Amino acid sequence: AVSCIATVSCVTEQTLVLIKPDGVQRGLVGEVIARIERKGLRLAALELRDVTVEVASEHYAEHAERPFYGSLLEFITSGPVVAAVVEGPRAISAFRQLAGGTDPVEKATPGTIRGDFALETQFNLVHGSDSPESAAREIALWFPSLNS
Ligand code: UDP
Repeated sequence: AVSCIATVSCVTEQTLVLIKPDGVQRGLVGEVIARIERKGLRLAALELRDVTVEVASEHYAEHAERPFYGSLLEFITSGPVVAAVVEGPRAISAFRQLAGGTDPVEKATPGTIRGDFALETQFNLVHGSDSPESAAREIALWFPSLNS
């Protein structure tokens, strides 16, 4: 049962967040998690883990035909990532707002994770699901034992 108080919305959504290998390697895990928590979002699951090529290729299946796909898979499997399920009201959009645009220089603005800490589109530190359908698919892929 979910208990609610007057100032906290009970309408929640879940999103899959990854701190990519560059974020872990650069020591930005605490920074990213702090921003998630300060926004008011909650952690429903959190794990440091190695990424298999199977999970990485499934995760980025929609980009399979793109020229950067091979390089993206190589990057995502290059070191441990932090995988998390983040929840709260409009969590999907809320995290995308925290992350900033895909290109950390041309699209992400200062004040966002990518805008503040990244320089290259591939090495843009974080992933967040882009729709409820993607979130459901990605949470099932990364956290199959989680029933939500
Ligand atoms: N990416 C890349 N080159 C590009 C576009 C994307 O290396 O030209 C990488 C980048 O790490 C990005 C990921 O592929 O985060 C997935 O791309 P998408 O368009 O889904 O961006 P996101 O939803 O992560 O902002």
